[in-house]
Amino acid sequence: MGEFDLIARWFTRPARRAALGVGDDCALLNLTPGMQLATSSDMLVEGRHFLSTVAPERLGHKALAVNLSDLAACGAQPLAFTLALALPRIDEAFLDGFSRGLLALADAHGCELVGGDTTQGPLNLCITVFGELPPGQALLRSGARDGDEIWVSGTLGDARLALEVFRGSIALAGDGFERVRAAMELPTPRVALGIALRGIATSAIDVSDGLLGDLGHILKRSNAGATLQADALPRSAVLAAQPLALQRNCTLAGGDDYELVFTAPPAQAAAVLAAAQAAGVAVTRIGRIEPASHGLRLVDGDGAAVGQRFAAFDHFKS
Ligand code: ADP
Ligand code: MG
Repeated sequence: MGEFDLIARWFTRPARRAALGVGDDCALLNLTPGMQLATSSDMLVEGRHFLSTVAPERLGHKALAVNLSDLAACGAQPLAFTLALALPRIDEAFLDGFSRGLLALADAHGCELVGGDTTQGPLNLCITVFGELPPGQALLRSGARDGDEIWVSGTLGDARLALEVFRGSIALAGDGFERVRAAMELPTPRVALGIALRGIATSAIDVSDGLLGDLGHILKRSNAGATLQADALPRSAVLAAQPLALQRNCTLAGGDDYELVFTAPPAQAAAVLAAAQAAGVAVTRIGRIEPASHGLRLVDGDGAAVGQRFAAFDHFKS
């Protein structure tokens, strides 16, 4: 089997919304008149972004999910994506599972695979997504203002907890492990929430590298500071059963969460909650935007600073 048979068998389906899909030199997309194109790319490298133990179906899901998460963070409606794939060899079982997981998530979001590139090489997946939104309505990192409340969707830290189990640094029994493993391998991109927050949130980002770092991007681009309630961070029952220091490490600096962190003025709190309910996802208030001179302060339930403990938290960056 050659490159073109592979593309035809696993990655070619009739174009639906796209004017032209897989098979020509370019794909052609019809945008809704007057809309702005949003685009983003994310690459997944074995060992760095996923473990060799991941089931191919879950890998297909995750490769697209992390890209859809970027569209979600901007409040864009997904349209289409391309897939650049380096494969060590043609492994039918892998391609069956991978394409099934990938295309199932694509269908769930009406996001068409319209093209890509396929080559032999160490396993590497790069997806570029295309979405649309009304001009001027994209949620950006730069819009947070003094006094805004900081919110996060879903729960944080489970993916990191799963990674620590894989690394052997902690042990988790049966069901608990399967649940956090699913958080790591099957993230849910918060697309409906991002769209519902247009015109309500002042800034947004998706949490891919850990809450502190990603919120830090908002603060830097918005020229703002913040106080974050370390113990208000939403976490699963599995994570909540772990020692407090580990809970904080996972929720604050875990990474791979793909939840949305966003800001909104206090007067918009009811609108935020309504948007979250319409999108079918929980949101939690976790802090407040302050002047840039305050930096990013972490406090516990009693208002005492917990900042120092995380300053030396660099192994979470590796
Ligand atoms: P070209 O040489 O013109 O770049 P290719 O021979 O690489 O085109 O690809 C043939 C067609 O298959 C193109 O339409 C391309 O977009 C599509 N394609 C290649 N790889 C993939 C893939 N992994 N998934 C979806 N479409 C793909
Ligand atoms: Mg090519």
